[in-house]
Amino acid sequence: MTPLYQNNPIKIYNSLSGEKEILKPINEGHIGMYVCGPTVYSNVHLGNVRTFMSFDVVFRYLKHLGYKVRFVRNITDAGHLENDADQGEDRIAKKARLEQIEPMEVVQRYTVDFHNILNKFNFLPPSIEPTATGHIIEQIEIIKSILEKGLAYVVNGSVYFDVLEYNKTKKYGILSKRNVEDLIHNTRELDGQSDKKNPQDFALWKKAEPQHIMRWPSPWSDGFPGWHLECTAMSTKYLGEQFDIHGGGMDLKFPHHECEIAQAEACNGHAPVNYWMHANMLIMNGKKMAKSTGNYILPNEIFTGDNKNITKSFSASVARFFMLQAHYRSILDFTNSGLLASEKGFNRLMEAVNSLKDIKTDQNSTINIKSWQQKCYEAMNDDFNTPILIAHLFDAVKFINQLKETTESISNEDLNILQQTMHIFINDVLGLENVSEASNDSDKLSGAVELLIRLRQEARANKDFALSDKIRDELAAAGIQLQDGKDGTTFSVN
Ligand code: AMP
Ligand code: ZN
Repeated sequence: MTPLYQNNPIKIYNSLSGEKEILKPINEGHIGMYVCGPTVYSNVHLGNVRTFMSFDVVFRYLKHLGYKVRFVRNITDAGHLENDADQGEDRIAKKARLEQIEPMEVVQRYTVDFHNILNKFNFLPPSIEPTATGHIIEQIEIIKSILEKGLAYVVNGSVYFDVLEYNKTKKYGILSKRNVEDLIHNTRELDGQSDKKNPQDFALWKKAEPQHIMRWPSPWSDGFPGWHLECTAMSTKYLGEQFDIHGGGMDLKFPHHECEIAQAEACNGHAPVNYWMHANMLIMNGKKMAKSTGNYILPNEIFTGDNKNITKSFSASVARFFMLQAHYRSILDFTNSGLLASEKGFNRLMEAVNSLKDIKTDQNSTINIKSWQQKCYEAMNDDFNTPILIAHLFDAVKFINQLKETTESISNEDLNILQQTMHIFINDVLGLENVSEASNDSDKLSGAVELLIRLRQEARANKDFALSDKIRDELAAAGIQLQDGKDGTTFSVN
């Protein structure tokens, strides 16, 4: 069978060229994609989730088209300092100090939280999820190679990338469209940066102060790698010196991604990435959602409604739907009214999906289903345009209602295409879960268990303890525990 990708050329907006380009994988049928993961020093906020969700949808759609995708998303568990310009304490070490726990406890706690939250939003797990601390040796090797090429220098046990030297033959600023001279003129020398030859240089290795807990031996000092280096090390290791797609939030374009390009170019002599994708920011109250300013909402606050910016709780599917109603390159404003509108829309969509099974078919169709299906693919092929896709899904809602009212008709074959296409785009590509169906299932389970609890009570009343024990034990074997209390019997599912 011809894979779907052959008839679906995807256009990706490449931040490097500033244009939409046709995606041409390095190896036909295969895609290597790297996305910068979270720094696990606090709970992820909804802004972080939005960026990761944009790439979850990219991953899902590429897979749907039949590409074999290796999707690498790292965990930053060391090296990210408070200030992105190599200043301040390591974020994880600082949290460990403040809470008087081990850095590994910080890492464990927030990695677990990250995974839990992403599960609630129905994310697909990446193919590989490597950690910075698991790749210290690889990072040291890259530093050695950059030093050998004369593009880095050692000062007091720290190693810095020499931006001016690099810029003599390559272009630092190629991604963020910055000019090194302008950068130097516009940068104020920060305290403690005196080790650097110029303020634009960035750390590849930092010597650890005596109180710094997270440290590793290296040829230059006991210390830790610079933040940008881990992504170069892990993307090269798992995707090769050159790979297809690199993603992250817009705020990572400079300096983080610019430095990744410089490191890889310095080390391997060519550009690491063919398509750079940047997801735009989630804002709230007119400002970027960020932990540092307190202007943020946590996913759990959305599920419970416990936040002053919202009037009620919302399900993960509704929040997911809300975010996908904006294109990933547009700024999205988080508002209560926006969420309420999304909830209405989401319910309307799900009602239509659930009513598909009741539609009666006819000899002929009066609706052009194939052309509608084609439009859904075209929306996603055009730089993963989820809002346009969702508009087409609502066109389907309109004609599902017309079919129910029998003002339009549909053949059996077309109804199958309609059902499949709705499933593909809603569930597989957008990753939305049909909440009403899920709750229907759990309602049915509760009904069945309640019935067994009543039968057990009757058995006990008749002193038929063999039967009542049998009901309890067999339910337990099926993973359903009964708990007898003074207010009756309740159950839990393991
Ligand atoms: P961090 O854990 O700070 O490295 O951030 C993880 C990811 O979330 C990065 O790709 C950031 O660009 C992204 N991010 C941070 N704040 C926002 C926001 N307000 N909206 C969208 N993405 C964000
Ligand atoms: Zn990164």
